[in-house]
Amino acid sequence: MTNSICSNICDVMEILEKRGLNTGATGNISVKSEDAINITPSGLSPAELGPEKIVSISISGEYRGRWRPSSEWRIHTEIYKRYIGVGAVIHMHSPYATALSCHCIDVPAFHYMVGAIGGDNIRCAAYETFGTKKLSEVVVVALQERMACLMANHGMLAVGPDLSSALETAMLVEELSKQYLLSKTIGDPILISKQEMSVVVGKFQTYGSQNA
Ligand SMILES: [Zn+2]
Repeated sequence: MTNSICSNICDVMEILEKRGLNTGATGNISVKSEDAINITPSGLSPAELGPEKIVSISISGEYRGRWRPSSEWRIHTEIYKRYIGVGAVIHMHSPYATALSCHCIDVPAFHYMVGAIGGDNIRCAAYETFGTKKLSEVVVVALQERMACLMANHGMLAVGPDLSSALETAMLVEELSKQYLLSKTIGDPILISKQEMSVVVGKFQTYGSQNA
């Protein structure tokens, strides 16, 4: 089982690079398994990756073997500690989300699909130095009742019950970031009201269900 998890992680890293969502060794992915967290190694590009180089770490970050885990392993472990329903985490420096993150702003309810992330905005976690516990703490706060957040002057992060849903959410956040930036080029977009967004978020909670 862990082998297939490691292959899936490598596949998704490759998809992110092919789609221009990550470049070189930036970004990282983890997937929780029964007894460990499987995470991309530090400093390797997708071309250098292989399932055998995915690092298995404990919830407190201990690991064995030749490959060191991503320098952002603390973000991943803190998320799994705090949100038990999360099974996968994707962090990337995708162009549009990163561009927005450099303005340190929350993405408001300019489009109803913002509600698919869990509320009436996509928060931007405060700036902290990469690889620090402080960064993991601000990201955990920004993820409250959300499936993704921006990270100030850095990039974005998405979570999901499994890797494919985390990937879908990560791509949605990048798309929404692109649309928000475009809409800002001709002024401030008209925002959807809080009341309407609570209706939208309610609908997303049953979205995909055949009984909805
Ligand atoms: Zn990063």
